[in-house]
Amino acid sequence: MNCIFCQIANKEQPADFVYEGDKVIAFKDIKPSAPVHILVVPKKHIDSVKNLEEGDRDLVSEVIFTAKKIAKEQKFDEGYKLVFNVGRKGGQIIDHVHLHLLGGF
Ligand code: 5GP
Ligand code: ZN
Repeated sequence: MNCIFCQIANKEQPADFVYEGDKVIAFKDIKPSAPVHILVVPKKHIDSVKNLEEGDRDLVSEVIFTAKKIAKEQKFDEGYKLVFNVGRKGGQIIDHVHLHLLGGF
């Protein structure tokens, strides 16, 4: 599949990884818009939050808990932003679900 985040998850494209688990990965955004800008990404290809299914509940929870863990480990958990862009009108460019973890302000 011609999806950059699937390719990163499969190690077919490089990324600056900060976390890898069974179901979720996290890597630095290539064009950061905060002092710390990390993308937390399920390995499973789901194109958008719009198309999440009931069976994805645990996976989405894992994504959010991973972000929380990274913020704590990297010591910026005093305050940060978690953002899902949804659809083109919501600013989504990459059609593979990802959570922006923005911190270090
Ligand atoms: P979106 O606008 O879809 O919510 O966010 C996509 C994000 O992915 C953007 O912040 C963009 O900078 C980042 N991005 C796009 N392509 C790559 C890539 O190849 N590697 C990494 N690390 N980040 C990327
Ligand atoms: Zn994908």
